[in-house]
Amino acid sequence: MIINSVFVALWGRGEDYKDLDEIGANHFILSESRINRENIKQFNKLKCKIGICVDCFGEDGCPANPASFGKLRVKIDNALKYKPNEIWLLAKVHKECKFCIKKSRFKVLLNIANKVRKYVPKNVEIGYFAVPFKHEEYSDLVTILGQDHKLLAKYFDAISPMLYHRMIKKPISYIHEYVEYLYNLTNRPIMPIIQIKDMPDSLVDKLSREEALSAAKEAVKPPSKGVIIFLWEHAVEKNKIHLLEEMLRVSL
Ligand SMILES: [Zn+2]
Repeated sequence: MIINSVFVALWGRGEDYKDLDEIGANHFILSESRINRENIKQFNKLKCKIGICVDCFGEDGCPANPASFGKLRVKIDNALKYKPNEIWLLAKVHKECKFCIKKSRFKVLLNIANKVRKYVPKNVEIGYFAVPFKHEEYSDLVTILGQDHKLLAKYFDAISPMLYHRMIKKPISYIHEYVEYLYNLTNRPIMPIIQIKDMPDSLVDKLSREEALSAAKEAVKPPSKGVIIFLWEHAVEKNKIHLLEEMLRVSL
């Protein structure tokens, strides 16, 4: 089955979510920091698979800070309360600080991934959002970002490369090219996450319907397991709910 997923940040108002059950998604990824007993109900009713995204270290938290894993565990515990099928880890770009200055970043991240793997119950899958660059083309991937996908992958059940192609200034064809690359490198299920508007918010949105649909088609080409659309609240903001529905339909 192709995974037709939507990332939902849950920062909107109640009426922003009334159309969610009619868009043809069979999977949702929800934000751990916004989820609560009320808003989870709508998703539980849909009988879809649910992933919860945990922002591991926050805006400027350092993975090498000894306090970081404790804080991450609190977030994971919160996510587990809602009985998700999966937990998705997100680590933001972090500038050097006193904790990580002489450390190997990829070793720090591998160590955390290993601890998370051991901590999360076996019936809950874990995935991570991957920076979509190739080691050969971008050596900072491992040294600065710490994402050695080949080594990280062994702790995870699935990977979602953040293929916001316009944001990283790549052609649409890069989406499939990268999925294939990452699959060959890691042998894990790959579900690319793609954009529905231009980001960051300061940009005027010039992502056309045609380009969005082409990107969605690229995203589900084998060996991809499906597509994740980022983000429901962007679709609401730009009146693109119908487009989001169409993007999910191209994969059927
Ligand atoms: Zn640091």
